[in-house]
Amino acid sequence: MSRSRTDSKKGNCAFCKSDRNLKNSHSIPLAAFRPLLKSGSGSLIAIPNGNDNVRRIQDTGAYEMLCFQCEREFNEEFDSQLIYVLKSLREKCSATEGFAVVKANTDIFAKSMVSVVWRMAYSGAQMYSDIKLTHLQLQMINDLMSKEADQTLRFCSISIAHLIDKRTPEAGGFTREHFSQFILNPRLYRAKRKSGFMIEWTMFGFLIHLIVPRLTNSNLKKFHGLKRHDEVVRSVPQYFLDNPSLEAALLSGLQANEEGRVSPSIKQRR
Ligand SMILES: [Zn+2]
Repeated sequence: MSRSRTDSKKGNCAFCKSDRNLKNSHSIPLAAFRPLLKSGSGSLIAIPNGNDNVRRIQDTGAYEMLCFQCEREFNEEFDSQLIYVLKSLREKCSATEGFAVVKANTDIFAKSMVSVVWRMAYSGAQMYSDIKLTHLQLQMINDLMSKEADQTLRFCSISIAHLIDKRTPEAGGFTREHFSQFILNPRLYRAKRKSGFMIEWTMFGFLIHLIVPRLTNSNLKKFHGLKRHDEVVRSVPQYFLDNPSLEAALLSGLQANEEGRVSPSIKQRR
């Protein structure tokens, strides 16, 4: 039996733990899905982690997990900043092939990214089913959420890469439109024998990585990670064929598309 929109579920808020009516919370902000849902047939191309079929979805990963007050605080404190910076970066990237800089407080931006990962970790939405953290890893992400923003990049590393394809569309390359339509199910990578982990996801046409604990300085440079106390947020280009897991995901998506395992509306757009 389905509930009406006003009849929300009661339970413990994942953040403040109070017993309240729970809002339908997004981990990746809804704003990241809106332009995609609006374009064409009103659905996204979801790329699963395993060998499942590529699907067109309208699911934006909402899950009843935060009370009204916490939901509002997350939206105001984190999401508005995150959306502003990534949209500004994306506009600049069109002209610069992925190298772009936007003036923003890096510490606050980094904390906003942590808040997305924190929500992924607690969300029961299908989209985040791969993000199953161990008790220790959950503790690490909870600790990060409880710290002031200026401490965030002491304990984790974050990189922002704009997805590009060097091949032309005539040669079978993906266009910007393709990349912004793909939703790569967020993935979790565990460090061997250690509690460290990395989460990878796409949003606003960017491939985003968050690594806990933070990388050493030399590795941070190779990773193009955000710098603590910086006044700009940078993006670098990510040629998707240089990222094996991304390549595998997108190519399997493409293959599924060619084999007709997705709806015809995608084919028309290719
Ligand atoms: Zn709450």
